[in-house]
Amino acid sequence: MRNLEVIIGLEIHAQMNTKTKMFCGCDNNAWNKKPNTTVCEICMGHPGTLPVPNREAIGKAARAALALDCTVASDCHFDRKHYFYPDLPMGFQISQYDFPLASKGYVDYDLPEGFPSPHGRGHGEGNRCRIHHLHLENDAGKLTHVGGKTLCDFNRAGTPLMEIVTEPDLRSAVEAVAFAQELRSILVTIGASEADMFKGMMRFDASISLREKGIEKLNPRSEIKNLNSFKALERALTYEEERLRKLWEESGGPLKGNITVGWLDDTGCTRVLREKEDAQDYRYFPEPDIPPLTFSAKEIENVRASLPHLPRMQRKSYLIHGLDTSQAQILLDEPKLRSIFDAVLDYTKDAHKTSGIVLTQLLGAMQKHGKAMKDLPHPDSILDLLDLVASGAISSNAAKRVIEDMVKTGKPAGEIVEEHGLTQIADSRELQDIVASAIAANPNAVLSFKKGKTQALGAIVGWVMKETGGKVDPARVSEMLQKGIS
Ligand code: ZN
Ligand code: MN
Repeated sequence: MRNLEVIIGLEIHAQMNTKTKMFCGCDNNAWNKKPNTTVCEICMGHPGTLPVPNREAIGKAARAALALDCTVASDCHFDRKHYFYPDLPMGFQISQYDFPLASKGYVDYDLPEGFPSPHGRGHGEGNRCRIHHLHLENDAGKLTHVGGKTLCDFNRAGTPLMEIVTEPDLRSAVEAVAFAQELRSILVTIGASEADMFKGMMRFDASISLREKGIEKLNPRSEIKNLNSFKALERALTYEEERLRKLWEESGGPLKGNITVGWLDDTGCTRVLREKEDAQDYRYFPEPDIPPLTFSAKEIENVRASLPHLPRMQRKSYLIHGLDTSQAQILLDEPKLRSIFDAVLDYTKDAHKTSGIVLTQLLGAMQKHGKAMKDLPHPDSILDLLDLVASGAISSNAAKRVIEDMVKTGKPAGEIVEEHGLTQIADSRELQDIVASAIAANPNAVLSFKKGKTQALGAIVGWVMKETGGKVDPARVSEMLQKGIS
C-alpha cells in the first residue's frame, strides 16, 4: 500500500437573504410560492431588458468577504458564463470570472472531538482552510422530473448567490464538513444568508484527489457536483476517496484527467457525468450591460466596522460562561434564539440561570408545541416576564408556565399571568398569616423539625403551596417558617 494523502477543496454556493433578486426587483423569497410567480422580463432573460445589480446583495457579499478575512477588490466586474440548460432562461449566467469581488481569505475551524486530522491537526488545534476567492452570481431555476416530463420553475432564477472557492487545504471528509459548518455559522451570523440546508440555500461542489505523501504536485481531481447537506458531503467524499484509492491500486496511479461526478444519495455512490470541461467551454466575457463595481477604502472599512463578533469568538465567550459546545452551537446557528439568550444574560448576569430559561424552558416549549425558530417571542417579552419574577409578582415556577403559554399562544406575559391568576402573594402580612396557620395545622411536622429533622420543613412548605395554589415563593415561605418555628 502506498502512503497516499487526500486533497479536498470546496466550492460553496450560498443563496443570499436579500429582499429582491440579483438583477431585478422580483421577490427573492420563493419558498412556498407557486411556480413561476416571482419572475419578470429581466430574470426570464427577455431580449432588450437591462439587469441592475442589487446593492443589498453586493453589501452582504462584502460583509461575507471580510468575515472570511478576504481582501475586497477596489474594483471588479461581472462576466457572462455561457452554457445551455433548460433552467437557465438567459442562455448565460451573470457571474464573475477573472476579477472576483474578493480573494485570499481563510476560515479557522475546529474538528469534532476524537477526530485527529491525518496531518496531525486535531480537535482544538486550530485548523485553517484558505479561501481562494468569493464572487457574486445569479442562481438558475429549478427542474423537476415527473414521469417522462420535466417541469421548469423559474422562481429561483436570479436569486443572488455567493460562490466561495477554497484552496485544496482539506485532508478528510470530516475536515471538509467541519469547515463547511463553520462557514455556514459565519454566513448566518453576519446575516448574509439563511443558509438553510433543507431549503437548498447552501450547496457544495467538492473536488477530491489523491497524491503520494511528500509530493507537492496536485493530481487530476474528481469533482462531486451539487451536494446539499453536510451528511451528503461527508458520505460522498468518503465514498469517492475509497473509489480513487481502489483505482490507484488497480491502475498504479491517479486519474488521467479531471472528471465531474454526481452523487446518488439513494444508492450511496457516485456516477461519472463528464470527462473534461474547462473555462474555455463557457466563453466568458465581461458583461456589457453592467458597469464595473468599485469600493473605496472608506466603504470597505465601514463594512468591516459593522461586523458582529464572529462565531469562533462568540463560541469562546459562551464556553467561558459555562455552556457546552452543543449549546453554544445552537445559539450560533439560530440568531433569533441567540438574541434572546444575550438579552436574558445581560439581564440576569447569570449564564446558568439564562441557559435554564432559554435553552431548557423556552426551547423545550418550542419543541413541545412544534414551533419554528421564526415563531420565537421577542426578547423584550421574555424580559417583561423576568421583570414580573424580579418584582415578586409571580414565582419562578409560574414563570415556566407563562413561557409555555407564550410559545403556544403568542400572548404577552402580563396577559397570561392575569388570565390564569398566576400572581403570587407578595404581601408580607398576608404571608405571615399563612405561615402561622401552616404551623398550627402541622403540629407533627413542626415537632419533627424542632427535633432536627430538616426534611419536615419541606412537608410544611408543601402544605402552604397546596393551600395557596402555588401562589407563594417557596424559598421565602421556607425562610419565614424557620423563623416562625424557632
Ligand atoms: Zn425578475
Ligand atoms: Mn457558480
